[in-house]
Amino acid sequence: MAMLDKLKKLERIARELEPTAGERRFTRDRIVSYGEDFLNRLEEANAFDSKPDKGIGILDSPISEDPIPIEEALTLLGQNVDTQGLNPASAGHLGYIPGGGLYYSALGDYLAAITNRYAGVFFASPGAVRIENMLISWMAGILGYPVNSAGNLTSGGSIANLIAIVTSRDAQKINSTNIARSVIYLSHQAHHSLQKAIRIAGLDECILRYVNLDRQYRIIPGELEEQVEADKRNGLNPFLIIGTAGTTDVGAIDPLDEIGDIAHRHGLWFHLDAAYGGFFILAAQGKAKLKGIEKSDSVCIDPHKGLFVPYGLGAVLVKDIARMQGSLSYLANYMQDTFSSTDEPSPADLSPELSKHFRGLRLWLPLKLHGTRPFAACLEEKLLLTRYFYQEIQKLGFEVECEPELSVVIYRYVPKKGDADLFNKRLVEEVQKDGRVFISSTLLNGKFILRFAILSFRTHLKTVDLALRILKEKVEMLENLAG
Ligand SMILES: *Cc1c(COP(=O)(O)O)cnc(C)c1O
Repeated sequence: MAMLDKLKKLERIARELEPTAGERRFTRDRIVSYGEDFLNRLEEANAFDSKPDKGIGILDSPISEDPIPIEEALTLLGQNVDTQGLNPASAGHLGYIPGGGLYYSALGDYLAAITNRYAGVFFASPGAVRIENMLISWMAGILGYPVNSAGNLTSGGSIANLIAIVTSRDAQKINSTNIARSVIYLSHQAHHSLQKAIRIAGLDECILRYVNLDRQYRIIPGELEEQVEADKRNGLNPFLIIGTAGTTDVGAIDPLDEIGDIAHRHGLWFHLDAAYGGFFILAAQGKAKLKGIEKSDSVCIDPHKGLFVPYGLGAVLVKDIARMQGSLSYLANYMQDTFSSTDEPSPADLSPELSKHFRGLRLWLPLKLHGTRPFAACLEEKLLLTRYFYQEIQKLGFEVECEPELSVVIYRYVPKKGDADLFNKRLVEEVQKDGRVFISSTLLNGKFILRFAILSFRTHLKTVDLALRILKEKVEMLENLAG
């Protein structure tokens, strides 16, 4: 009896985890209205908020046995999270690589979490796995990859790059017998997630060759090939070339066609990091610039950048599924019911993940509800806005470092007197303090450079004009201060 009493008592408390229909409605209404408020105020909201308390108030409400009401939870978020630091949802987010966060993705996430379909193996949710595989085939189609290419929806570009690097390592049979004489070719402009991936994949002992770049920060193919040939002559084992379509600093696209040919001629794996730039292939001008993308063996491409979905969705595609499975599949005893060779490929066999978010839904839903047309238009608009900013910023007396290839402009102001690096550093600080728009900076050849990156789906002409006005204002103020 004691046991039954105890079970009843525990059940009563455990059942608090399942709110009633009325409680669900009450809480949902408040969450939805918080979300609506956030969106309705987005135009006036800052792109960056620098407040001295930096959200510390969240710690005043520790995790405890006792519940708090939804209003209190939302107040905590409103004060400490959603009005502090960078606001990536803002049209004025013009730093790093923006994306925005499509509303229908949020609804897709909501459904994915409610139904909690397990999209890891075909057996468990054939429909969910079909959705994820269909998105991979769609991406393969737009990139010019074979339709039967393999791929995986990841949490982002970093994991996508890691999966590709591990696959290339095994496909090229890099192991303890040859690692120290195996060579990877890349650019100093490659994203740091690749250096991380190389380390995580145990390839730190390989020789890393940083190929010289042209004035537009692109790999010089002639130098790449000479280096590969010299390394082969010297008994080394060249096995991997890493190219980038849209570098983070300047948006440069390495010469994909030529690099692809070099890789094929010499039997090297060509991995392409198109995390930022890949989806510009949906815009006519972007497509021309990305010619040769299909010559890569693997590619990383981020829907949470170029397709504007909220953070948490990257993708990796690999032409040869056997290579990908060779590195990433595993048959455990307790998974024996799930295996059938006639099935569609299962994400769990193409990723380090087993239990996973049904993240396909956050892309499938916006693509289905909008169609692809507005995505293509939006990307074309971004390319044109970039040209516009590039033109207008020069009229304001700024120097530009090189022509924008995609949607990043690098520029700086050279003051009448004083140190230019210091002036531009203060200029970024002033723009960030103002907060209406957010810009970031980088170092190029030791010079402090400003970056202007347009990729939020919410950024239109009005925001770019605002950014230009703010930059003009701040330059005048700093020049006046200097006297
Ligand atoms: C953003 C980015 C990455 C890293 O992707 P995450 O989604 O941030 O993990 C890798 N490479 C390039 C070129 C990027 O722009």
